[in-house]
Amino acid sequence: MSLFDHREFVEHEQISYFHDPVSGLKSIIAIHDTTLGPALGGCRLWPYASDEEALTDVLRLSRGMTYKAAIAGLNLGGGKSVIIAKPGDKGEALFRAFGRCVAALGGRYITAEDVNTTVDDMEFIHQETDEVVGLRTEQGGSGDPSPFTAWGAFQGLKAALVRVFGTPDLQGRRVAVQGVGHVGQHLARMIRDEGAHVTATDVDSERLAQAKEIVPDLEIVKPEEIYDVKADVFAPCALGASINEKTVPRLRCRIVAGSANNQLATTECGTELGRKNILYAPDYAINAGGLINVAYELEGYERSRAERHVGRIYDIMTRIFNYAQEQSIPTWLAADRLAEARITALRGLRPRHLPEHARPVRVRRPFPLGSNERPSFL
Ligand code: NAD
Repeated sequence: MSLFDHREFVEHEQISYFHDPVSGLKSIIAIHDTTLGPALGGCRLWPYASDEEALTDVLRLSRGMTYKAAIAGLNLGGGKSVIIAKPGDKGEALFRAFGRCVAALGGRYITAEDVNTTVDDMEFIHQETDEVVGLRTEQGGSGDPSPFTAWGAFQGLKAALVRVFGTPDLQGRRVAVQGVGHVGQHLARMIRDEGAHVTATDVDSERLAQAKEIVPDLEIVKPEEIYDVKADVFAPCALGASINEKTVPRLRCRIVAGSANNQLATTECGTELGRKNILYAPDYAINAGGLINVAYELEGYERSRAERHVGRIYDIMTRIFNYAQEQSIPTWLAADRLAEARITALRGLRPRHLPEHARPVRVRRPFPLGSNERPSFL
């Protein structure tokens, strides 16, 4: 089959295959769209069963990054890379070889951490190229992105609460959190700190025990039971596709708002949520906090600027909900259209000439409402 006929090939600009016989590196870098700026996206290391499987993953993920950067108001395009290897194959030679591949793209692609890659791996890549973010704070980097992702998701959740209940107040509400890993734990604590009850689940008992230390009155249910919990908000913070044909009929919430990537098994499931009167906060918009944070490394990292931008996820989400309502379309489609509108408009116009709906969101007010306090995750 031709690459150009691949089902995940959607007007990608560039797909590069790399092999380094010395380190054994086999990697694919996909650049989906660079209209808004260089393509930024993480490097995933995974023992793919075939090159075809790796290609499918990198094409799908790189396109998603274009939308995430666009809706977040970043001047970045979308790209992603995969290394076909087992976690046990990791080492300096592999990542330095990969760094040379990134350098060969001449600044069109900037890499970062993703599944099975860490800040240490980024340091190896950094020895070969400057086109890498997600470095240690001591190296001018931004450190762990998870608290920022959680903070952004918290802002998006608040915007959803306002839309559904007319108030961002969490006092007395119940939130069901699926997955209390890096992001889920922070999010659970932020929600609890504002007076909501949190029900959580995880397949990893150690993670649950950690979460219980952070949120002592956490109510725990079995992984399969989380969909049946009667709650105001269901927050998917584990793996993708948790909103699917089997789970949508079981949900007993008014809002779906969480950090997981690719939450909808199909877009039809997102539309079905709307039919059930459940407000869906589109995943790539609500979980953009980590990307926003890391993007600030490119201009000399300043935590306060990154925090302010992550806080805008409240406004971004509000705009998506407004647009969905005006156009009578599902929220997942509203997010796609707003992201596409910004890209399309910027292909030929300078930002100040953009129509209102294509402009990046500006901060209208800090959040929590009326407060200039530093975010509670600090
Ligand atoms: P993580 O691996 O630290 O946490 C995920 C947790 O989900 C783990 O504790 C895992 O045991 C649990 N889990 C897996 N399958 C489960 C299931 N079926 N039921 C219940 N729990 C299950 O990952 P993370 O960094 O916290 O990210 C969580 C999600 O958010 C992922 O989808 C990730 O892609 C997405 N995301 C994360 C960031 C970030 O900054 N870390 C940024 C954007 C998006």
